[in-house]
Amino acid sequence: MSNPLKSFGIDSRHVLIGGQWRAASGGTLEVENPSDGGSLGEIARGNAQDIDAAVASAQAALSAEWGRSTAVERGRCLARLSTMVMEHADALARLESLDVGKPLTQAHRDVVALARYCEFYAGAADKIHGETLPFMEGYTVYTLREPHGVTGHIVPWNYPMQIIGRSVVAALCMGNATVLKPAEEACLTALAFAELACRAGLPAGAINVVPGVGMEAGAALAGHAGVQHVSFTGSVATGTAVQRSAAENVVPVTLELGGKSAQLIFDDADIDAAMPLLVGAGIQNAGQTCSAASRLLVQRGIYDVVCSRIAQHYAALRVGPAIDDHDLGPLISARQLSIVEDYLSQGSDLELLATGQPVESLPAGGHYLVPTVFCDVGAEHALAQQEIFGPVQVIIPFDDELEAIAIANGTEYGLVAAVWSRDGSRQMRLARQLAAGQVFVNDYGAAGGVELPFGGVGKSGHGREKGFEALYGFSSLKTVAVRHG
Ligand code: NAD
Repeated sequence: MSNPLKSFGIDSRHVLIGGQWRAASGGTLEVENPSDGGSLGEIARGNAQDIDAAVASAQAALSAEWGRSTAVERGRCLARLSTMVMEHADALARLESLDVGKPLTQAHRDVVALARYCEFYAGAADKIHGETLPFMEGYTVYTLREPHGVTGHIVPWNYPMQIIGRSVVAALCMGNATVLKPAEEACLTALAFAELACRAGLPAGAINVVPGVGMEAGAALAGHAGVQHVSFTGSVATGTAVQRSAAENVVPVTLELGGKSAQLIFDDADIDAAMPLLVGAGIQNAGQTCSAASRLLVQRGIYDVVCSRIAQHYAALRVGPAIDDHDLGPLISARQLSIVEDYLSQGSDLELLATGQPVESLPAGGHYLVPTVFCDVGAEHALAQQEIFGPVQVIIPFDDELEAIAIANGTEYGLVAAVWSRDGSRQMRLARQLAAGQVFVNDYGAAGGVELPFGGVGKSGHGREKGFEALYGFSSLKTVAVRHG
């Protein structure tokens, strides 16, 4: 059996617990290459027993060197890790491309983002502090920001490195000891990253990694009585179950869930500037992106022009094996492909504007789908309401600002939105009125924006990761009141 992590000197079938790589109690799982359906090797099938051991090792780390580490030491460790991630950039990008089916250039961007998270939180570690509070005479009152203790991190398969960066790295910055449950579909870079963290000098038990099936390892972590905070990124259904389990232990949860994000393009928009992001933000990672701009709301005065340019853009898109670095790779699995195809069949009553094209001779076992855009879609149509999580965009016409806001806010999600307009007053009005965790003006996504707090409203979740805000989420505030007379 091949070992895809040989170049990192570790066995892909192992879990990391207490600084030691070892076999999991639950055996192994096969890893598929989504580009051709072939096997990439095996990973561990961690179970509740492994999660118990991982939580115990994290608790032990808090009582040992890691728990005594200063903010400066943690920052330096993350800085070394950032450098090591970049030293292994090509190997990590290749691994992610094979495992997730992500075009190589996009996988490379994820590596750079992971290194940048390490760099950002390295710098932030000794700059987060409490306050002194004015109070009654004879008192000195101050606040201390303290780690929660053991934090659990359950991440999906679509952006493993970026999500580990914004979640695990931020938790480590605050001095928590972490247990990571990566997704069973794609966890190879999570394991490689953990090995680099050990080499960068992170003490044993500060990061533990237990791959495995959601209902086994994931559920065991979400409901573990030894975990003091759960960070979950994934679907609404699983997030709801995770929050329910965590509630049994009365611990806080960050939920980063799905989206049906909209870009609003007004008659006065700079269409040339918008065009690459209108399409790019919808089809990046084959549309398997929580913040995918899956709805394009276009004002009627420029509707025909925008539709025609989008159609041209789509016609030039190519789909092929991830490692060959086309515009789109395959979807992650046969299951995901069938979910998206089901949605497409619900669009049979819609006007198909354009599709992309497959490259010649696609590998037969790959899970490929050409990107598809529909126009003149009603705001209430299933394809305009539900998260498809595939390369499908809908274009919805609107007449005026009020209608645009009503459509944009008219789903159960609220993750990201964008306003394309040259009118400064409109930009300011809409930034306030759009129901989303992030609003971009004449931009979308800000190239990942490591520094920018990210999260949702409504069914897109709650809590914020990225930037300094993540550090508040991964810590609790203690108030100390000293009566000295
Ligand atoms: P998912 O919910 O099926 O799985 C996510 C993770 O949860 C995986 O590690 C999985 O093993 C684990 N899991 C599954 N069942 C579990 C359970 N019962 N208890 C605990 N853990 C369990 O989601 P998915 O299909 O892998 O990912 C797609 C979803 O993730 C989409 O809805 C997407 O929008 C969302 N997502 C959101 C963000 C964000 O930042 N908001 C980012 C990426 C993905």
